[in-house]
Amino acid sequence: MKTICVYCGSNSGSKPLYTERAIALGTRMAKDGLALVYGGGNVGLMGVLADAVLEAGGEVIGVIPEQLVNWEVAHKGVTRLEVVGSMHERKARMFDLSDGFIALPGGFGTLDEMFEMLTWRQLGIGDKPCAFLDVDGFYSPLIAMMDRMVAERFVHPDQRDDLWHGDDIDVMLAWMQRYQPAAASKWLDEKRRKALR
Ligand code: AMP
Repeated sequence: MKTICVYCGSNSGSKPLYTERAIALGTRMAKDGLALVYGGGNVGLMGVLADAVLEAGGEVIGVIPEQLVNWEVAHKGVTRLEVVGSMHERKARMFDLSDGFIALPGGFGTLDEMFEMLTWRQLGIGDKPCAFLDVDGFYSPLIAMMDRMVAERFVHPDQRDDLWHGDDIDVMLAWMQRYQPAAASKWLDEKRRKALR
């Protein structure tokens, strides 16, 4: 793993701890020689994370749609800023550039990006590790929702288990390094579907 994409809030959240953990992750990535791919913004946790990687001597690649550059939220100090035409293009480019994906706390944008990666992966598009770095239980309700999806037979248990969730950066990075994708099918009702044909 050489490059990790981190999705995170374009706001900083309510607690200083969110900022502290973004700095800890960015610093650690730079020390490990892991380049950061992210949304290219200078705002919220995104800006904090990019600054932390740069300050620790690491490499930062921002991928940002033109519209957001026009809104002047692009980070001007990153190693490389790629300006793309749309949000869709950005997701594809971030996917191509990255060996794995981490979600720090964030809002709709963060979840949208991370869930797209999980969705693609369960359909066999890509086989890269996806991890939720929890800060103060932020992602616990989301994980509970995923467990409910499994219990209600909308998500294959192997697909649910194919992601990492926790608060320890060392453990997370070690998991990502040795990641092997689940071989599970996306569909739980394969036999029933065939029987109905
Ligand atoms: P959110 O979690 O809703 O704050 O959205 C954050 C995610 O959406 C980031 O990972 C970015 O890829 C994208 N995003 C949202 N706002 C911005 C912004 N001002 N500049 C760059 N990217 C953004």
